[in-house]
Amino acid sequence: MSATENATLTHEDAAQRLDKLWQRIRTAETAAGRATDCVNLLAVSKTFPVEAVDAVAACGQRAFGENYAQEGVDKASARPTLEWHFIGPIQSNKTRGIAEHFSWVHTIDRLKIAERLSAQRPTHLPPLQVCVQVNVSGEASKSGCAPEQVLELCQAIAQHPRLQLRGLMAIPEPTTDVSKQHQQFAALRELQTQINQHGFALDTLSMGMSDDLEAAIGEGATLVRVGSAIFGNRTYPESHGVTL
Ligand SMILES: *Cc1c(COP(=O)(O)O)cnc(C)c1O
Repeated sequence: MSATENATLTHEDAAQRLDKLWQRIRTAETAAGRATDCVNLLAVSKTFPVEAVDAVAACGQRAFGENYAQEGVDKASARPTLEWHFIGPIQSNKTRGIAEHFSWVHTIDRLKIAERLSAQRPTHLPPLQVCVQVNVSGEASKSGCAPEQVLELCQAIAQHPRLQLRGLMAIPEPTTDVSKQHQQFAALRELQTQINQHGFALDTLSMGMSDDLEAAIGEGATLVRVGSAIFGNRTYPESHGVTL
């Protein structure tokens, strides 16, 4: 199975879906009493071919998110003028490609990965913009740094000039219980406030996906990561060996 088996996206479909999505975002901003335009959109293109990225980019979307190192490096190399964000789990032998081809990494959860990304970030590029991924739901199987270790990791990242620490990211336990969604997103926001009380100026909360972006925006998300609501449903290529 190849990524191209995910249905091709026409420019019209892309425009319509982005329109609907921005309406959802604006409505959520207003409902939360937040300024219009305070939330940015990351279009998560994992498993979709570069042609689908083109259809979405043609509608004015600049920032794209990828989960798998090789697939992400391939797409970012093919479309270097777009802004690429890495949002997947990071194995230490995959950091070089990420450091060389991405502008942002949302999923730093341990110092070793931060050190490698910093050492491998090419000097002709601006510092890599990074977020610390936090395990807000406490699920043992989830990646992400434990909340009580976030401050120490932020302090260590701050020592690396090739990394610019921007904020926190979470993938909460999926739930249709809206109050539970709020609770988990609020936990990330509270952690950001705590970290900033220690002299940091984190300005990014990367949280909220297709099914829970309203709750995330209600709790202060500055960047929502949306895949299926833009690109459609994903079929996972066997070779990734994972289901998300
Ligand atoms: C796939 C993915 C998304 C997008 O999920 P959708 O439900 O398709 O919007 C967002 N964040 C991460 C980390 C992902 O892996």
